[in-house]
Amino acid sequence: MDKPSMSFSDLKKLYATTKIFQDKKVELCYSNDIIQVKSMKVKDKKEFLKCVELKDDEQIEKNIDVLIEKYCMDKNGEPINPKKLVENERQQLLVELRANSSDLSTVTIPHQCIKCQHIQEFPLKTDYIVVNNFKNPEGYDGFIDLAKDRIKVKLGQLNRQDNIDVGEYIKNAKLTNDHDTKIVFLAATLKEIYIQEDDVSIPVDLKIAEKVAFIENFNLNDLEKIETYFEKIEDYGIKIVLKEKCQKCGEDTQEDINVIRFFMN
Ligand SMILES: [Zn+2]
Repeated sequence: MDKPSMSFSDLKKLYATTKIFQDKKVELCYSNDIIQVKSMKVKDKKEFLKCVELKDDEQIEKNIDVLIEKYCMDKNGEPINPKKLVENERQQLLVELRANSSDLSTVTIPHQCIKCQHIQEFPLKTDYIVVNNFKNPEGYDGFIDLAKDRIKVKLGQLNRQDNIDVGEYIKNAKLTNDHDTKIVFLAATLKEIYIQEDDVSIPVDLKIAEKVAFIENFNLNDLEKIETYFEKIEDYGIKIVLKEKCQKCGEDTQEDINVIRFFMN
């Protein structure tokens, strides 16, 4: 008797409907939003590696957008906008996506001991992944009072869309010196602007060009208030730190693994 035959599409369907890895819940390091991360297909990793090989930064960013749109959802299962995420969150999702797509211990990282030069391959562990969430500096709530408390601004990190807007502004205005470009970046950190009247805060919605003009008219003291806030923010985000002992001499070894290198493995 002939066995029933199965087609390529049956085979693909069977594979696609099998959940090999569970979705992982991840708390974003900046916004604290909960994101569900799925596991990734070989072909999408291949696409990404191609851009990395070409060292095309813009294409790498676009590819990260695609990966996030395809494999990350908010807590209600709705798609998320990768352009609303700050750089550290995008890196975080890239690492979590890679970590949730295969058994990490099969990935090894070569490491040379700083004491005896012995080279050893260490299998990766999820323990190496450390996430520090963003914190406002001590004494700050993210808002800064300006113009003798008559204006209040909410400061924030630049997301991918902000960075695109800033890049376009700098290009169109043909800005070349560091001071001018810094002002544009600082202007983009003004997330919300309010006029304080009696006890009411009235929001003012400004475009990037208007924010630049606004900040250029600050007195130095107000500009310094904003700079000081950003200087005081501690590093946050995801880090992959290989922490082991050398097999040969017992020296404690530690190495920060680059996010892209981790993803490519
Ligand atoms: Zn050693």
